[in-house]
Amino acid sequence: MASQVNDETAPVTRQRLRVTGVVQGVGFRPTVYQLATSLDLAGCVGNDSAGVFIELEGPAAAIDEFVLRLQADPPPLAHIDSVTRRVMSPQGETKFVIVESRSDSSATTLVSPDLEVCDDCLAEMNDPDDRRYRYPFINCTNCGPRFTITKSTPYDRPFTTMASFVMCELCQSEYDDPADRRFHAQPNACPDCGPRIWLERDAVVPVDDVVAATRDLIANGEVVAIKGIGGFHLACDARNAEAVAIMRARKHRTAKPFAVMAADMATVETIANLASAERDLLKSPQRPIVLVEESTGSDLVAGIAPGNSRIGVMLPYTPLHHLLLEPGDVWVMTSANYASEPIVKSNREARAKLSELADTLLLHDRSIHVHCDDSVVRIAAGEELPIRRSRGFAPFPVRLARSVPPTLAVGGELKATFCLADGTNAFMSQHIGDMENLETLDAFTAAVAHMVELFRIEPETVVADLHPRYLSTRWAQEHYSDRLILVQHHHAHIASVMAEHGHTDPVIGFSFDGTGYGDDGTIWGGEVIVGDLDDLHRAGRLGTALLVGGDAAVKRPYRMALSHLWAAGIGWDERLPPVTHSSEEERRIIRQQLETGLNSVETTSMGRLFDAVASIAGVCQEISYEGQAAIELEALGTADAEGRYRFDLISDDEALIIDPGAVVAAVAGDVAAGVPASVISGRFHAAVAAVIVAAAEHLRRRYHIGTVALSGGVFQNVTLLESAKKGLEEVGFAVLTHRLVPPNDGGLALGQIALVGRR
Ligand code: ZN
Ligand code: ZN
Ligand code: FE
Repeated sequence: MASQVNDETAPVTRQRLRVTGVVQGVGFRPTVYQLATSLDLAGCVGNDSAGVFIELEGPAAAIDEFVLRLQADPPPLAHIDSVTRRVMSPQGETKFVIVESRSDSSATTLVSPDLEVCDDCLAEMNDPDDRRYRYPFINCTNCGPRFTITKSTPYDRPFTTMASFVMCELCQSEYDDPADRRFHAQPNACPDCGPRIWLERDAVVPVDDVVAATRDLIANGEVVAIKGIGGFHLACDARNAEAVAIMRARKHRTAKPFAVMAADMATVETIANLASAERDLLKSPQRPIVLVEESTGSDLVAGIAPGNSRIGVMLPYTPLHHLLLEPGDVWVMTSANYASEPIVKSNREARAKLSELADTLLLHDRSIHVHCDDSVVRIAAGEELPIRRSRGFAPFPVRLARSVPPTLAVGGELKATFCLADGTNAFMSQHIGDMENLETLDAFTAAVAHMVELFRIEPETVVADLHPRYLSTRWAQEHYSDRLILVQHHHAHIASVMAEHGHTDPVIGFSFDGTGYGDDGTIWGGEVIVGDLDDLHRAGRLGTALLVGGDAAVKRPYRMALSHLWAAGIGWDERLPPVTHSSEEERRIIRQQLETGLNSVETTSMGRLFDAVASIAGVCQEISYEGQAAIELEALGTADAEGRYRFDLISDDEALIIDPGAVVAAVAGDVAAGVPASVISGRFHAAVAAVIVAAAEHLRRRYHIGTVALSGGVFQNVTLLESAKKGLEEVGFAVLTHRLVPPNDGGLALGQIALVGRR
């Protein structure tokens, strides 16, 4: 006969639980408190630098039940990595309490990214009877700023930029009440005790209603700098051509697309054709900028994304955004900075730097400790393709398949990010910017110091790009010359996509981008890299052309076109756009440089081949932002097998050469025959996709590898990515593409980290 378990008489045990993951600042302790008390368990819960510790005293069966329920139903924003249990001796406790945070210098905890305002907070903000009615800093344990206000860990108010605000009695009682949604919500605040907003021109603008006044300014065509979560935005009405033109002129930004914020999903539907994956992404808690197809009925001004078929759209994510934008509103919301400098984040900086860009500043007094730009994501083959991984994602780690010692990888130059890793956690930084000036280098230094402080990882190894002139490489040499490893750029790209898939077996990697420093001192960018993480090597490449005049060939695609035509033995026919775009004198100098190699460097860059084709097809002759020519070429059409061009694949013992000569000749022939640029674009995209498949098949016969990895900035091109992936899968390859970090240099640091474990 089975005996009945009686809780009254069951022996009391005590266990210590250790919970790791994103468990701080997400309402974890109140959930634990409520669960423990509902199961009549005594003990305590608290934060420390390693995560959350819980001590439970009661019948063993109740403790088991507790663990089951906690894992099955954690707070919405929590992410439990592991729960470990250890038996202790009972202490005769009868109550469950929440204890003070403990600081422990040896452990790593995770810090939550900044979060969009939750529905509960929004409902309160819109309730005239609520004490936080229309309060722009409303938040709770389920929402609000985290990463950008946290100076150190554990995540506790004194270690945040909210430390300077003393909570009023009401706020404090919410903060202290384990049953309240604001229990230990570190940024908790209200109109009586918390941050506030105001408008400034030369001095504070005296207005009763800052939100209404700002709406009026925008409606009148002004540019307003609005302080947000990770920095300032420049805002104007996206339907006011004059306002958009003024913003472009002041930012000296001629063509680079501006992102917009639309008041709500219904408003987005009026300007864009959305796929369901794009809708989900727009509404996701990360609230990224999503690159979507602008609809023909869109009434946004053309100057927002010239030459692009896509526009970057995001939904409001702070309470202030929800107050500012009303249904139907679409505002340009672009990072407030000068060209390549980091986003402005302090009021002092805003007054000094933004007064020329914006007519009015909308300021607040909650400090931003570290900057964090908006993230940018695109959908490719139904999956997320990060273009910029920043707010909402950083500093959530990427998990490594292979453990590494404490390591800092400093990334590349453009779209810079870095990565701090220890064990299997790889903490990718927020987007830093283009490392071309001291301001960005300062922001980089500050961001590294912040992450080292948050995660208490003191790097034993530092990894940098092989390029001797990258500021990031020089920075690493200056600070860590005693522990520095240099890694080749295109190896790092391939390792990056392998790392995010936890793939350690050999791959055939296509590392296609604009520029990377090669082993031989030339500029690489059309590389076929074969091997596993321990041994990657160059097994193929694009045929070379000369970068005539170095950087000038990057900024002026027509020079690259002349160079590729020359390499292919095609005359500079007067009907070809790169010829008509250049003067006879310039062509004479270019011809001389091509003949002598003077002031020129060899390149295998696939990005430059896209530039050359865009120029020959008459799409783009000069660029004002990185990748512009390729983006405009992609915008014209879909990969079209009908009449597609063909690369020659030349194999010798050393490497496989993808010779672009026949493609360049065919493009020039089509242009001369009056074939439209959209058709040329389709045929070219199809040709690149086809040669990837052909090269992969060739190398599969040689190396017996069945997995292909696609990385490098060229694979931001969704037309190419989807077409190559499809072709590779049709002939039986497994294909690795980016889903967690960008294929561009923003994802490079992850690959650098992955290569540290090399045997
Ligand atoms: Zn909330
Ligand atoms: Zn208050
Ligand atoms: Fe690159």
